[in-house]
Parts: sequence; structure tokens; C-alpha cells
Amino acid sequence: MSALTELNAQIADCHLCEISKYRTRSVPGEGADDAELMFIGEAPGFNEDQQGRPFVGQAGKYLDALLASIGLNRGQVFIANVIKTRPPNNRDPLPTEIANCRQWLDQHIAIIRPRIIVTLGRYSMARFFPGKGIGSVHGTSTECEGITCFAMYHPAAALHQQSLRRTIDEDMLKLPDLLARVKAAPQRPPQPEQPQAQQLNMFGG
Ligand code: URA
Repeated sequence: MSALTELNAQIADCHLCEISKYRTRSVPGEGADDAELMFIGEAPGFNEDQQGRPFVGQAGKYLDALLASIGLNRGQVFIANVIKTRPPNNRDPLPTEIANCRQWLDQHIAIIRPRIIVTLGRYSMARFFPGKGIGSVHGTSTECEGITCFAMYHPAAALHQQSLRRTIDEDMLKLPDLLARVKAAPQRPPQPEQPQAQQLNMFGG
């Protein structure tokens, strides 16, 4: 069994949150286990809960079109969400639900080791661009947790506010260049192991 399949089975069996009682299926995420781009949305909605797959409703159709605009399909990237279970009536995820699900997202990131994490909307932005607002960071990148992160509006935002569509389209088109730059940058060498005495000296010991 691949690491990803095993992880997804654990997620399907997770009942840390009350909302797991009401789900049809958990939605662990899907795509290539060696994807260079990892897209992280908010939470499954009705369609995702029915199918156990992320972004399969209207917002997902738009995400597919955005991927096509840079020559990719969903099998070539990885698509996940901050939480893996649909909140009842599509309410916002609760802080406890985000905290409980964090271990799963961490493990997905550790297995896939994407070159770029693309945050879709404010919930994934909150983790990778702490303290920032989407209006100022969309279309920009930062280094977080050792990975290049790129912020975008959630695709559903364009369904509610048509004027955002152009902004989202334009932000997506920045990704190929950013990916090329990230891949061209020299890899940081792994931190050498510090002998115990040297570590103590850092603190004046
Ligand atoms: N919105 C999300 O954030 N995730 C999905 O999977 C679907 C809609």
C-alpha cells in the first residue's frame, strides 16, 4: 500500500470531530504523490462529501479551467483542503476542526513534498501567510515552513463576485514562472548535525 493510500485510509477512519458523524465520505485530497504544485482549499462541500473527492462542484470546474490555463490537469497536481470533512450546511470550519485536521495536512505535505503550496482562500492562507489579508497577498509568494507558498483567492469567490475572476485568472498565470524560479534556485543544504557542546555554547553555556 502506498504511503498516500495508507494516509487516506487513516483519514477515512478519523472521528476526532463531531462533524464526522454527519459526513457521507471524508475528502482526503487527490492527485499525484510527487506533485510539484499542491493546492489547498477550505473544506468539502455537498458534492465533495457525496463523492469523497475535492473540488468537484462549481468551484472545482473553475479550478479545472484554471489548471488548464497553465497546461495542467488535476492528475498532475495535488488538491487538498484544510479540513477533510464537510461542515454541516457548509458553515465555516471551526478552529478545533482545523487543529484536529492539521496532522493530516502535515502528512500530505510530508509525503508529496510539493515545490509550491497554493493557498485557495482565507483558511489555508491563514496558516501559510499568518496575519495577512487576502486582498494584499493574493498573487504573491512567501517562504513558509521551508516551502514556497503562493496565495490565491478561493475559486468560489469568483462565482459570488464576477469581478474577481480576472484577478484569479491572472494570479494563476504567475505560477509557471514562479515554479521555474523555485526549481532553478539552489537547494538549501541539509542542516549539519551540531555536536551537543556546540549547541550549549549557542546559549552561552
Ligand atoms: N471548496 C473547497 O474549499 N474545497 C472543496 O473541496 C470544494 C469547495
